[in-house]
Amino acid sequence: MTPGTVFLVGAGPGDPGLMTVRAVELIARADVILHDRLVPARALAGARRDAELVYVGKQGGGPQMAQEEIHTLLLEHARAGRSVVRLKGGDPFVFGRGGEEALVCLDAGIPFEVVPGITAGVAAPAYAGIPVTHRELASGVAFVTGHEDPAKPDSTLDWPALAAFPGTLVFYMGVRALPRIAEQLMTGGRPPDQSVAVIERGTLPGQRTLLATLADVAERAAAAAIRAPAITLVGAVAGLREQLAWVEKLPLHGRTVAVTRARPQASELAARLRELGADVIEAPAIRVRSVEAELPDLTAYDLICVTSPNGAHALFTRLAAAGRDARALANRTVAAIGPGTARALAEHGIRADVVPERSVAEGLAAALAATPVTRALIVRGREGRDVLRDALRERGASADLLVLYETVAEPLDEATAHAAARADYVTFTSASTVRHFLAAAGTVAGPRIASIGPATSAALREAGLAPDLEADPHTPDGLIAAVTEDAAAELGG
Ligand code: SAH
Repeated sequence: MTPGTVFLVGAGPGDPGLMTVRAVELIARADVILHDRLVPARALAGARRDAELVYVGKQGGGPQMAQEEIHTLLLEHARAGRSVVRLKGGDPFVFGRGGEEALVCLDAGIPFEVVPGITAGVAAPAYAGIPVTHRELASGVAFVTGHEDPAKPDSTLDWPALAAFPGTLVFYMGVRALPRIAEQLMTGGRPPDQSVAVIERGTLPGQRTLLATLADVAERAAAAAIRAPAITLVGAVAGLREQLAWVEKLPLHGRTVAVTRARPQASELAARLRELGADVIEAPAIRVRSVEAELPDLTAYDLICVTSPNGAHALFTRLAAAGRDARALANRTVAAIGPGTARALAEHGIRADVVPERSVAEGLAAALAATPVTRALIVRGREGRDVLRDALRERGASADLLVLYETVAEPLDEATAHAAARADYVTFTSASTVRHFLAAAGTVAGPRIASIGPATSAALREAGLAPDLEADPHTPDGLIAAVTEDAAAELGG
């Protein structure tokens, strides 16, 4: 049998956005993934459903799986013809034992490839506003393990040489040895007032940076209870953080925001919140499920209203199943409730004729006032409101409903519910997210409650909760803007 290839893949420092395109590709294709603890939380989400995921990191603070055992696993899987991804934090060849694993493959005649990753020693400083080299401040950088106790006589590190190194020193795994590292460098001639930065959980939510000097870093890191994983950077460039810190300036830095909408829609909202610096908890309370329905003769209608992106996608799924496409809507007026629904229709080749300013049923009814209508079809979910139908009927048009999907509860695990309950904000994007989230979580006591619009706010009030903020416009963008403004106001006030 032809052996599979072993891919030694770097997963980057923690922020999933810092994984390489090649890493994402290989994760998606792998038969087997052997992964460590320090890989981004959602890195494995892209793995094949039938891929075998093997955790080979530390067991609950205990010892790491023995390196020989990892070697055996790598070879066994590859010999069985499987494509094996060995996924490591940061870069596989920087304090990652990737070199050893490559040599083992070589010895066994197993083909291997290396996919470099963004190493923590560069990424954590970058997210702290520290360039590891800088003209006139540092023309070199050294990556050093802080794992060894510098006091041990058998230390392989040449401390006097390190102290004399004309550039930035970046220590990995150095939290525990910090006092000794600082001492040895000062003994070797580094000035006690030289800048030191300790960056904990770099690129991750909750990243913390301590800016100190060689003289006081040990004491201050202990006082701040800095824990692994952390990078310690020694050199004048650390001082640039005072001007270049940028993560802390993001509008939602330090804020935790829970997103309750269904998973497929949550990811876009979550990604945008993360870009603004928020720590996002995805706590989907609902799931969308299609409903059996006969597709009516669309030519019988002069107006087709679509009241959600889900409705738009469901309509086209149904058309496709009947062997039809966008031409089934030719010559009908198509109305979308808001920009998201209009975008969903556009994905299927339909440009909506009517999109109201206010993305609610009342807004759509008003926007249609000037459109002549005799027979309308309203495509929506089972839980939708009747406002639009009633408004159309009131003006003498006939209006039929086409219910193509329903929202059902998505079970919320305890850890997620607990995390959401401790968030700074919980966002609700529909009445059904309110009902199902509250059914699963009980109530929302601590966090500020952010509602996307009046219908959602009404559902909140019905449940005895007052929304602290309501988006305007009633769109995900409006919701993000409302949360951002609220966070700024709270800081200012
Ligand atoms: N191969 C990895 C390093 C593995 S050694 C890389 O290239 O990044 C593990 C050490 O890396 C930790 O003890 C810590 O010093 C550092 N590290 C890893 N992730 C980190 C992070 N997100 N923030 C700060 N340090 C990190």
